[in-house]
Amino acid sequence: MSEASERVQVYLVGAGPGDPELLTVKALRAIQAADVLVYDRLVGDDILALAPDGAQRIFVGKESGRHPVPQERINALLVGLAVPGRTVVRLKGGDPFVFGRGSEEAEELRAHGIPYEVIPGITAASGCLAEFGVPLTHRGMATSVRLVTGHRRADGPLDLNWKSLADPDTTLVFYMALANLPEISEQLIEAGLSPDTPAAAVRGGTMPGQQICAGRLADISRIVEQAGIAPPALIVIGRVAAFAQDRAGRPADITANFAAFVREAGHA
Ligand code: SAH
Repeated sequence: MSEASERVQVYLVGAGPGDPELLTVKALRAIQAADVLVYDRLVGDDILALAPDGAQRIFVGKESGRHPVPQERINALLVGLAVPGRTVVRLKGGDPFVFGRGSEEAEELRAHGIPYEVIPGITAASGCLAEFGVPLTHRGMATSVRLVTGHRRADGPLDLNWKSLADPDTTLVFYMALANLPEISEQLIEAGLSPDTPAAAVRGGTMPGQQICAGRLADISRIVEQAGIAPPALIVIGRVAAFAQDRAGRPADITANFAAFVREAGHA
């Protein structure tokens, strides 16, 4: 750690998508220096095991669709734990600033004058998709990427700008979208995205037993259901999803339409 960070009391650390090898060196150092670890459901045991044996471990995980530990309580917990001379490591899956509410915790720490540092992590989009050979951008196929939440607040509608999302030149990566996948694909098609657009879903990416399935946008929610994909899962929609392949390099369940799509784009 740098000299300037010696006074840091709380590290907001991205633990990456699952595989401990995908931690940053900085994240590993912070974990090894932890007196207290405050961690989420997505952080696996093999990462927690990297902390000193004597470090206190506090689980503040959230179950799917529910928030057993309200964010305000987590904020208050971090503030309460932060005392000079104690190193608190707040570990989150992926990157703490991508759908991780890390910025809310940072605001709270700042408001209390607590010195903290953010250590970014590999977010699920890049971590999980790289495993299966899916790039987020590819010349001639995708000129931009959007990270989108597919989670709705309480019983409210999915409040997304479908017209702006329905862009064939953009890779869409949906987080927390499994439950709403039928609605997401319908809305995108209605907003003008081709039903033949490649789409794929990764479950538990970079972790043992990871799974991928793929197909056309019009079929993806059925394919995901048939494949029994469960959370945590990531959905990618866009031409680049046609690169989906399993670790052995065999194509995943890619339809003939996919091959046609890729050839049309001049990249087969
Ligand atoms: N901060 C995290 C995202 C937290 S939101 C990050 O940057 O990756 C939680 C969602 O992330 C899950 O519902 C899922 O959509 C996605 N996710 C995280 N890890 C994943 C993994 N290993 N495989 C598939 N999806 C994952």
